[in-house]
Amino acid sequence: MSTANRFRAVNAIAEIKTPMPCAAAPVPEIHFAEDVFNIQTMKSYLPKGSCQKLLSTIRQGTPLNPEIAGDVAHAMKQWALERGATHFTHWFQPLTGSTAEKHDAFLDFEGDKPIMSFSGKNLIVGEPDASSFPSGGLRSTFEARGYTAWDPTSPAFIKRHGNGATLCIPTAFCSYTGEALDKKTPLLRSIQALSASTKRLMKCFGLPDEKVEITLGAEQEYFLIDRNFYLQRPDLLQTGRTVFGAPPAKHQQLEDHYFGAIRMRVLNFMTEVEKELWTLGIPAKTRHNEVAPAQFELAPLFEEVNLACDHNMLIMEVLRQVASRHNLVCLLHEKPFSGVNGSGKHNNWSISYGKRNLFNPGDDPDQNAIFLTVLCAVIEAVDRHADILRATVAGVGNDHRLGANEAPPAVISIYLGDQLNEVINLLETGSGKASRKASSLKIGVDTLPPLPQDATDRNRTSPFAFTGNKFEFRAPGSSQSCSGCNVVLNMIAAEAFDRMADVLENVDKKDFNAVLQKQLRSVIKAHKRIIFNGDGYTDNWLNEAARRGLPNLPMTLDAIRALTQDENVALFEQYGVFNRRELESRYEVSLEDYQRRIHIEGEVALEIATSMILPVIRNEYEKCVRTLAEAKQAEVKTGSGSIRRDAEKFGKGCDDITGKADLLRKALQGTPDEIIHAMHALRNVVDALEKITPDDVWPLPKYREMLFIY
Ligand code: ADP
Ligand code: MG
Repeated sequence: MSTANRFRAVNAIAEIKTPMPCAAAPVPEIHFAEDVFNIQTMKSYLPKGSCQKLLSTIRQGTPLNPEIAGDVAHAMKQWALERGATHFTHWFQPLTGSTAEKHDAFLDFEGDKPIMSFSGKNLIVGEPDASSFPSGGLRSTFEARGYTAWDPTSPAFIKRHGNGATLCIPTAFCSYTGEALDKKTPLLRSIQALSASTKRLMKCFGLPDEKVEITLGAEQEYFLIDRNFYLQRPDLLQTGRTVFGAPPAKHQQLEDHYFGAIRMRVLNFMTEVEKELWTLGIPAKTRHNEVAPAQFELAPLFEEVNLACDHNMLIMEVLRQVASRHNLVCLLHEKPFSGVNGSGKHNNWSISYGKRNLFNPGDDPDQNAIFLTVLCAVIEAVDRHADILRATVAGVGNDHRLGANEAPPAVISIYLGDQLNEVINLLETGSGKASRKASSLKIGVDTLPPLPQDATDRNRTSPFAFTGNKFEFRAPGSSQSCSGCNVVLNMIAAEAFDRMADVLENVDKKDFNAVLQKQLRSVIKAHKRIIFNGDGYTDNWLNEAARRGLPNLPMTLDAIRALTQDENVALFEQYGVFNRRELESRYEVSLEDYQRRIHIEGEVALEIATSMILPVIRNEYEKCVRTLAEAKQAEVKTGSGSIRRDAEKFGKGCDDITGKADLLRKALQGTPDEIIHAMHALRNVVDALEKITPDDVWPLPKYREMLFIY
């Protein structure tokens, strides 16, 4: 792209055809879940007997009865054909981090007669050629077969694409030997583990057997930029982030974007996104401007965690697709622009037992006892396994957030809020012996003081905050699947619940509260170091955390090592979430992904600097030198001082770019760390030059153009 063609902000304004607001329209008809084969649809398309069996698989988690597969397939096909689908696909989540689909037409032949066919077998298993998906050595190419297996707990849905539609069947993806090659399989395993442990713990409290539901509400942050800018940034195109770009004079300092009025162009985009999500049965609820300019958030209502993870993958896809229809690009990278906030994904996680949310304090002593027990169990779980939790959010993009002063730090800690913290302190001192403090809290006797939800919610610097009736894990990156961290949350909670149950099981009813009180007190004593209610962005906290012995691993390569440490492997194996081979393969995949992405960033930076920036700077230098010579010849003296200064600056710029580019070229043969350092040094030079080079020749769209949508 020649420099003269740089797409200017002013062009962006001219191109927008924002529809004018029209007179009040009637309340729109809600097409919620119209394209989902959900329970209601099943009931009207399936024979009663098969429907009952399928429902009990979905609701009670009983094993799927293979005899009903034919009926379900037939019903699904009927429904999908009526809705215009011609193809079906097993929709899965390989370790690439995105979703995968391979479409097959329903078309088949009965003799010469074309028919639309879809069998029980088509529904239950698929055998995509798996050889090109990352497996971290789990599956060598000569044994490339992997298979996808229907997950009946996440309903099939229809994806539309202009002139056609495809039936998508959520599936798990495994190797031929049954090892997980995807993000769904371990999630389903972890849900099973936590369900079992929750039931066991609730039984200790004398509660009847009920269904356990783990819930997730995932808030999604993203950036939008005009597509024309995007197309002129090779770095955005190839890496999802800008490897060069000087921050504009005004970005987020005035704090005028957060919750600001949403611009019409963006609102039109959001409205279309929501319409599509609703059709897919995804309960998009909240939309708002985020902190950085051009940054936004979408939050759905919470749902069962497996479904919510699938839905979050779809949300990211719909955001991207709808953006391109609006001549926008949705950037899901954790740090597309340096100097302004990056994007995360707030993982709101909770557990319900029957109708009861276990993270709800409640207002009677019995309910309080259960609440305090699960609360203490989560405190123990997170303290014991902060390293694994940290590993689940590691990745190239997130390294720019965790540890920088914007997202929660890489040190995992728990924020409880003042009131709850007070409760925990009372609990710790409330012993049978004379307590030093005047007040204490007796389990089974006292009720908790009311905990106002809003008061617990305002510390944005904590990676793991109790927010009234759920925990909000804020470290996940905006582009990451929610699966990883929920797998680990579920598993470590399962372990902590089991440890509680080990103590509480078979305790005499009359001693129960005393035993529980003692147990909670010892858990708090042992694990309260993980609780931190202050500002997580300060160096003070990092020092304090080090003193407390909390792990601080700001970089991916250090963080992911937790996955293969012996004691962690043992835990994953104990809960049937991963075996050692699976963990080693995942470690391998993360490592390779990291190294490859850093390498790509380095290559892109090198190419832009030498083939786009350097020629422009050299040109400016030559112009100055030529002018100086001509001025001398013409015996013009004025002006030559400032031109000489520019000549020096651009000349130095040429030398600096060349020098730093050479270093980067060399670093590309070395470690990721070396590449990162060399990229950084090159960036400093280029970004400084951006500020002094004539605006009309700068070859890349600038931050001040890209970050403001009109
Ligand atoms: P905030 O921005 O203040 O954190 P939002 O309303 O944007 O709050 O998001 C809160 C998220 O938490 C929503 O997705 C909401 O549905 C979810 N949530 C609420 N209750 C629960 C729960 N019991 N389990 C899981 N998620 C929940
Ligand atoms: Mg929010």
